[in-house]
Amino acid sequence: MSEIAVRMTKRNHNAFVHLLGALESQGFELDELLITKDFKEIFRARPKVVLYSFFTEEIWGSLRDEVGLLKKRGALLVAGGYHAIAMPKHTLNVLGFDIAVIGEGEEVLYQLLTALKSAGYKITKELANIKGLAFYLNGEFVFTGFAKVEDFWRFPPYPESVRLISPIEITRGCPFGCYYCQTPYIKGFRMRHRPIDQIVKYSRRMKDMRYITPNAFAYGSPGAILKLNKLEALLKALQPLRKEGRRLFYGTFPSEVRPEFVLPETLELLIDYADNRRLAIGAQSGDDAMLKAMHRLHRVEHVQRAVEYMIEYGFEPVVDFIVGLPNETEESQRRSIELMKWIIAKGGKVRAHYFMPLPGTPWARCKPSPLSNEMKKFLGRMAAKGKIEGAWSNQMELSRKIQKLIEEFYEEPMAYHGGVKKIC
Ligand code: SF4
Repeated sequence: MSEIAVRMTKRNHNAFVHLLGALESQGFELDELLITKDFKEIFRARPKVVLYSFFTEEIWGSLRDEVGLLKKRGALLVAGGYHAIAMPKHTLNVLGFDIAVIGEGEEVLYQLLTALKSAGYKITKELANIKGLAFYLNGEFVFTGFAKVEDFWRFPPYPESVRLISPIEITRGCPFGCYYCQTPYIKGFRMRHRPIDQIVKYSRRMKDMRYITPNAFAYGSPGAILKLNKLEALLKALQPLRKEGRRLFYGTFPSEVRPEFVLPETLELLIDYADNRRLAIGAQSGDDAMLKAMHRLHRVEHVQRAVEYMIEYGFEPVVDFIVGLPNETEESQRRSIELMKWIIAKGGKVRAHYFMPLPGTPWARCKPSPLSNEMKKFLGRMAAKGKIEGAWSNQMELSRKIQKLIEEFYEEPMAYHGGVKKIC
């Protein structure tokens, strides 16, 4: 019988695959774990500990029911992921978890499970020596510090003894610090990259080779500048695997690229070395003032230039926008509509998202702006024609719920560099 269960879901799959690889490489026997996406299987197995990982958007789903059922059975519940890091007190006090993992999980999870095993799966004062945890001990809130894994490539992306794969995380951290985004505050501002030989080694297990990175064209770079030779070296090194029949998808799902990095030289590399002819970029707004306000550090002209180049080189641009940004006026929204129209006329696709004030970001306490009638009509019309994708309308409801959650339970988030700048 497994005493520890891992509650896998579609959304936490990639994170847990990487964490299981890290656990195993530190000597943890994975056959001791029940790893499943089937909650009923976990419930029936009566494990002593259950590991969860989730985003704030998921806390209104089945999560609370599952927690309630497991707690009645006396299981110790551990939460990791973006919500637990940004709102540990809410995770413990309101959602009902016993321990929140704060930061990058590779080392802290191994130490935590080892300590729990030797303490009979109870919270003891020994946990206070493990960096990266929040929990209550004798009624006192304990936070042991933010866990950082600077050289995350010390750990393999996949476990050996369990047949699980996912897109490989090749780069961690992002220097841009967009105010709506959790990545730099949880993974740090400095980009770190998995070495090429390791990427090649583990890519062998994928049929379609896909990667996780905040900006696929920044591979090998400290972050904000292009290192073409490093990028080329990675793509070249993957070519023998392509020749064996695998396809290489780079700069598209589940990653994307920054618009300023879309240049003839980067597109030429993709033509020579990759199989995708779609490329995803983030535009976010058609208004330079909004781009400045959200700290995107690029302008509308970079988006237009990127789209022009993509069309010229035969790529279909897939361009993300956020609508309902804080302090977005009708005029700002009109500018976004103009840019979306221009992209669609060029043959590109638009993906529209409604602004969500995510905890742990500088914009966590900012209010979304209502959509103008013009924007609502435009999005509806274009979606009906299949020109715009995205879940902006469902996200409006979700955004309201997150805003209410933050108003009610705001807490200073735990962050990679200590604090998060507050803008609103
Ligand atoms: S949105 Fe992208 S570029 Fe901006 S901080 Fe997040 S990961 Fe970095």
